[in-house]
Amino acid sequence: MTDKVHVIGGGLAGSEAAWQLARAGQPVVLHEMRPVRQTEAHQTDALAELVCSNSFRSDEWETNAVGLLHEEMRRAGSLIMASADTHKLPAGGALAVDREGFAAAVTAALTADPLIEISRGEIEGLPPADWTSVIVATGPLTSPALAEAVRALTEEAALAFFDAIAPIVHFESIDMAVCWRQSRYDKVGPGGSGADYINCPLDKDRYEGFIDALLAAEKTAFKDFEKTPYFEGCLPIEVMAERGRDTLRYGPMKPVGLTDPHQPAVKPHAVVQLRQDNALGSLWNMVGFQTKLKHGEQARVFRLIPGLENAEFARLGGLHRNTFLNSPKLLDQSLRLKADPRLRFAGQITGVEGYVESAAIGLLAGRFAAAERFGAALTPPPPTTALGALLAHITGGHLSADGEGGARSFQPMNVNYGLFPPISVPRQPRDASSPKGPRSGKSFERKRAMSARALADLDQWLLGAASVAAE
Ligand SMILES: Cc1cc2nc3c(=O)[nH]c(=O)nc-3n(C[C@H](O)[C@H](O)[C@H](O)COP(=O)(O)OP(=O)(O)OC[C@H]3O[C@@H](n4cnc5c(N)ncnc54)[C@H](O)[C@@H]3O)c2cc1C
Repeated sequence: MTDKVHVIGGGLAGSEAAWQLARAGQPVVLHEMRPVRQTEAHQTDALAELVCSNSFRSDEWETNAVGLLHEEMRRAGSLIMASADTHKLPAGGALAVDREGFAAAVTAALTADPLIEISRGEIEGLPPADWTSVIVATGPLTSPALAEAVRALTEEAALAFFDAIAPIVHFESIDMAVCWRQSRYDKVGPGGSGADYINCPLDKDRYEGFIDALLAAEKTAFKDFEKTPYFEGCLPIEVMAERGRDTLRYGPMKPVGLTDPHQPAVKPHAVVQLRQDNALGSLWNMVGFQTKLKHGEQARVFRLIPGLENAEFARLGGLHRNTFLNSPKLLDQSLRLKADPRLRFAGQITGVEGYVESAAIGLLAGRFAAAERFGAALTPPPPTTALGALLAHITGGHLSADGEGGARSFQPMNVNYGLFPPISVPRQPRDASSPKGPRSGKSFERKRAMSARALADLDQWLLGAASVAAE
């Protein structure tokens, strides 16, 4: 009998990790602090409680990345997905669940499993030294004592307590006939080329119109427990705009050191810059555009920016209470903390965003920990799969663990096709009878091809993983 693996946190990720460990024959202790100690958002003592919406988002796997992640997790024997499927509610193309039935099903399955012991109580600091394999899955509302211990083990800036997310745009949707590549003053900097940013120019009229739209747009409110986490270094752009109509022009939208090659004689009044966000170059973040605008409003207002009229957003901006690691720097490929490899991390604390993504990283952490306990090395799922693309992003695919001036730039991420390696699809001859609308065209075909490739590669990986377990 091998030593037990300890999983801290019985949320989406920890529940899935414990289940995967038990399926591999590995005994587990699952530590959950509720109801002994509550978080600011949870209401019950159930495992895998959904703290807000009851939706797992789109369930369409052919052309939607989160739907694809659902399907991959089902194929990998996910308890979270099986319980969601059993308790699903009518919601069109989305997978919505009866939250109480869902959490009760997860709790019952884990409680009934002879290999899983559930221990109720807070882990108040680093786990004892004789816990030789631990998965920390304590989520965005990790209790302060444990968060402080993790922060001390890493470094000051490696654990964030709020996310400040700027919108991320798919490269293909940026109009490069309007925008251009250039770093301010053509600075090459460490590892740069002098043309590292995509620049979108605004003349005075477009700038004034943009500020008007920004000031009038609807904002989301903070939850009571979040207080108002504004730091002068990363104010939401609408707050900056409220401070004065020219504040943005002297801040993140300053036009200095940039020349528009499409109109070299005209000095832009303001410039929006986008910085490459992933190693593949498929995702670009809007520099300094962290925001609390409602999502629909963000898409509407940011499409007023020249060159972004048809922008497709891989994710929209936000500012929330969160607890997450600078994972690309701190974690290895199997989610172990490089500074203390007996600790593995899973769920939202690794810098993924959302119920499904959190559970997906729990699934992988559980499988990695089980393989390690049995003396085998499990290769990560290929980056062509949704599971592998998400894992690769948080363990290195995100371009820069340290942004300009050494500040971390890694922010939480949902699964999306921009994280996958590109695929080429043959150009379809089109005529008047060709299908039109969202379920046609090149982008649709590319997503379909990526999903088909993902499932084929996942099946191969699962076969390989099964043979590792049998050795
Ligand atoms: C207010 C809020 C609303 C959100 N709404 C949504 C949404 O609508 N849709 C969506 O997809 N995502 C949402 N998220 C983001 C995220 O998907 C969820 O928080 C998700 O539950 C994260 O899964 P997890 O397993 O990482 O953490 P959790 O599900 O939060 O699980 C962590 C568990 O660890 C326990 N714990 C914490 N510290 C300790 C400790 N020291 N010892 C023992 N146990 C501990 C907690 O009690 C909790 O049960 C929201 C997040 C927040 C904070």
